[in-house]
Amino acid sequence: MAFTLHGIGVSGGYAIGRAQLYSHARLEAPHYVLHKGHLAEEVARFEEAVEEVRAEFLNTRDHIPEGAPAELAAFLDLHRMILDDAMISQAPKRLIRETRCNAEWALAQQTEALITQFEAIEDAYLRERKHDVKQVADKVLKALMGHPGHAPLRVSEEPSVLVAHDLSPSDMVLFKRQPFAAFITDLGGTTSHTAILARSLNIPSVMALHNARALIQEGDLLIVDGVDGVVIANPDAAILEEYRLRQDQWRLEQQKLKRLKTSPSSTLDGVEIDLLANIDLPQDVQDALEENAAGIGLFRSEFLFLNRTDLPSEEEQFEAYRHVAEQMQGRPVVIRTLDVGADKSLPWLPQACVNPALGLRAIRLCLNEPQIFLTQVRAILRASRYGRVRILIPMLASLAELDQALALIGQAKASLQAEGLFFDAATPVGGMIEVPAAALAAEWFARKLDFLSIGTNDLIQYTLAIDRTDDAVAHLYDPLHPAVIRLIHHTLATGRRLRKPVSVCGEMAGEPRLTRLLLGMGLRSFSMHPAHLLAVKQQVLRSHIGEIAPLTAKVLKAGEPERIQQLLGRLNA
Ligand code: PEP
Ligand code: MG
Repeated sequence: MAFTLHGIGVSGGYAIGRAQLYSHARLEAPHYVLHKGHLAEEVARFEEAVEEVRAEFLNTRDHIPEGAPAELAAFLDLHRMILDDAMISQAPKRLIRETRCNAEWALAQQTEALITQFEAIEDAYLRERKHDVKQVADKVLKALMGHPGHAPLRVSEEPSVLVAHDLSPSDMVLFKRQPFAAFITDLGGTTSHTAILARSLNIPSVMALHNARALIQEGDLLIVDGVDGVVIANPDAAILEEYRLRQDQWRLEQQKLKRLKTSPSSTLDGVEIDLLANIDLPQDVQDALEENAAGIGLFRSEFLFLNRTDLPSEEEQFEAYRHVAEQMQGRPVVIRTLDVGADKSLPWLPQACVNPALGLRAIRLCLNEPQIFLTQVRAILRASRYGRVRILIPMLASLAELDQALALIGQAKASLQAEGLFFDAATPVGGMIEVPAAALAAEWFARKLDFLSIGTNDLIQYTLAIDRTDDAVAHLYDPLHPAVIRLIHHTLATGRRLRKPVSVCGEMAGEPRLTRLLLGMGLRSFSMHPAHLLAVKQQVLRSHIGEIAPLTAKVLKAGEPERIQQLLGRLNA
């Protein structure tokens, strides 16, 4: 049955593909399609993995140490019974034969179906047994991964669309390696880190769909319209044709933009504009180079810390930062110190946070855990030998925090010096302006820092009191709110007056419809995901700052949303 769902388009473009319902287990399991001739072998591989786990259970059962809790034997027996149940040991074999998928995928699919059944059980004790099912299935999955099968014929027969209730930023990092054509979720706001990562994948995505995961069935044909935030399930032939045309048109426009790659980025009246890239992982530097970014304006270093239970060592971090610095060949690289908390959670973070966005996040957390901060700053400083590295401190709200952070940076420098390790002692240190208090007090922050970077995602969240991850308030997200515009303008004016460079590295910098407004307000350095760089460059090339300044001044004086929209329309005409 055809139906349409409306949400928020967080990454533009159009995709047409088959729905793949998301679960954590599935994402970890590789998925590929097998040659018919390899199916028997794949079934045998699955049987061997089950046998391996059964042998392990029996062996552990036979060697229970003295003094072990009495429940251990019962627990092992229960897990062996689950393993022997046809739902785990037989059903995946049928899936392998019927859908020609690999054993890991078959097992993950079957496990998910079982867990859903368990979740529907009323009896609390029985319902909780879903964890035992998952543990047993994970053991078999591990055994399978230790004995890889045949190379995939291809990843999927058709493009697929990931359908999830919710995705965390950590899921999205894993997702970077999965070849989906689009993704859609029930939850999430426009500037949640999940949405930002979705944009970085440069595939269409729609969030805040509320009940897509419940309504869409595995294998449904979906149209994902990331421009208007619409998802159409099981469309008829005419609609499909219409969207195929839109998809072609979109691709054509993207191709055209590619031509701007090598043109210098300056306005019609000759003002040079820096267009920099935001990256999440060291390997993303390739995307920045691909789009000819003038540098890295924001390296969200915290992604090195996600999806693991330990902390990255100084050496590991140093290698990551050095890689980016070297690859950028003398172009600036702004490395932001750890910004976790809020929607980027880590296993070792305190869980009992009443309101994580207002809690121990970013620099607050680092000042609470100075050893983590010192290790990171040492690694960044050591990388400064290999390029134009800069340090950026996130979420500053008070000057006392800045003083403490600067003192720790001084301490890191002293320790490197004492050990005879080389670094650039003049490595610039900047601060993020993303809390309204910091924007209003920008002058005092600017005096102590070498540069400022406006994080509009958080600035909007904290100014308008909108949780950026909450789909229920996502419609209130408004970069054109007069309070937001004034805070940005004030920060830019302060930077100009004190001769301290200011850039914008929030999502506003990558929105072409806001480029002229920001240029008119005095912004000369934009940092955004590489995928948006050429569309913003196109706006820069078409703009004349002298001409847009008077209209910008009017926007700054306006208060009514309709009036601001009207002025923006004229600005972009
Ligand atoms: C911001 O808040 O605008 C920003 C760039 O940082 P993040 O999105 O990682 O919080
Ligand atoms: Mg931020």
